[in-house]
Amino acid sequence: MLLYNTLNRKKEELVPVTPGAITMYACGITAYDLCHIGHARSAVVFDVLSRYLRYKGLHVTFVRNFTDVDDKIIARANREGLDSRAVAEKYIDAFHADMDRLGVQRADIEPKATEHIPDMIALCETLIAKGNAYATASGDVYFRVRTFPGYGKLSGRDIDDMRSGARVAPGEEKEDPLDFALWKSAKPGEPFWESPWGKGRPGWHIECSAMSEKHLPIPMDIHGGGQDLIFPHHENEIAQSEAALGKEFARYWVHNGFVQVDSEKMSKSLGNFRTIRDILESYQPETLRFFLIGKHYRSPIDFTAESMEEAEKGLKRLYEAFLGIENELAKNKRSGASLPVSITQELQELQNAWFEAMEDDLNTAAALGHMFAIIRLVNRVLEDKTLRMAKDTPEFLHRVLEDKIIWNTILGVCGEEPSLFLNELKKMRVQRKKIPLDRVEKLMEERAQARRNKDFAKSDALRQELTELGVSVRDTPQGAEWDIP
Ligand SMILES: [Zn+2]
Repeated sequence: MLLYNTLNRKKEELVPVTPGAITMYACGITAYDLCHIGHARSAVVFDVLSRYLRYKGLHVTFVRNFTDVDDKIIARANREGLDSRAVAEKYIDAFHADMDRLGVQRADIEPKATEHIPDMIALCETLIAKGNAYATASGDVYFRVRTFPGYGKLSGRDIDDMRSGARVAPGEEKEDPLDFALWKSAKPGEPFWESPWGKGRPGWHIECSAMSEKHLPIPMDIHGGGQDLIFPHHENEIAQSEAALGKEFARYWVHNGFVQVDSEKMSKSLGNFRTIRDILESYQPETLRFFLIGKHYRSPIDFTAESMEEAEKGLKRLYEAFLGIENELAKNKRSGASLPVSITQELQELQNAWFEAMEDDLNTAAALGHMFAIIRLVNRVLEDKTLRMAKDTPEFLHRVLEDKIIWNTILGVCGEEPSLFLNELKKMRVQRKKIPLDRVEKLMEERAQARRNKDFAKSDALRQELTELGVSVRDTPQGAEWDIP
């Protein structure tokens, strides 16, 4: 499989350190608020990656941490009059609840920073002993950036460019403005731990280095997160870990792209953070997941009402085809003819193309394209009486249902019972588009009566009225059905 490695700025063949196994670490949330769509994207990307590697038969050990001590958590705790541990626990629970709804599997190991303080202190001590870090008079510990020659290799930044313009902030006792904190002395009222440098707490970057080393053999295969973590967080993790261990920290650095909301960057000042909970008031969880995998993981994605509608329509097409397959398989009558070889061949080619897309840097966008092509093929068979009745059509349809299981296993979509899913989808659309359900049902009833009376002028007028309410009507042998186009 090819995977884009941020470190070398190219796609590379994924070759595990230990054949048959993959170790991966993704940076998790800082638990001080509800997760937004950016968190959802990162979680879904690494969920699909780990599911895919497992499907390929690799033994995956996946670690995703929680940062449960941090300035933002402390600030929130003070604001809410809570203990910072209570704040972190509350938002870790919220993370799990949201991710469960999105079908994001739990990581194998989910370490918390506060459970690894001794590991972080030990790492600081190693770095100080090696001359890569220093403690200040007030009890802070800084990493001495100039002692690590590879600094900047992940982000592609030049250390001299970074140094010009950098200033030491008032009150900081840094030797060099580029140096970053490994350990911070505690201010009054903050949570603290005893350390060789007095009461304090860890800096953010040291957490991930310590937790990686604790839970995974180094070098690990894959280290990931959002693109926003490349600098400084991941750059600093590399510096700390490689300086301390004297060897490579992670082989492949995988980063997912940004999420925009209505074509703007999500930011506190714009107030356009969309939480997962807020989005799931209006859309099914699977629609959000389908939207998130609809673009290649490194591309930026733009969350808009239109793009969510498009994802929803795509899923609807898939589930309608699954329902069509179920209905067809429930019938017994078959003719003696066989399906044309070209059709079964086309299915085989699309199935191969699906895996080729996944092998090519986890290209879920291309994979979804092949899924729609398979569904078009299914519809071609189901809509043609001769093809539909062919004696090997059930076999063909069963092959597509096997694909559906693979898509569900790897992408985490298409796993619901089709009629239940479609009913739920319709409910969501009714609610979102504020369609007056009572009125629609009354008009449908009147129209059915008009048709029974062969009053087609009235029936057409009622259809027009329904159209104006945003509803389309389809007459089937079982009676009229309405939908939201
Ligand atoms: Zn991290």
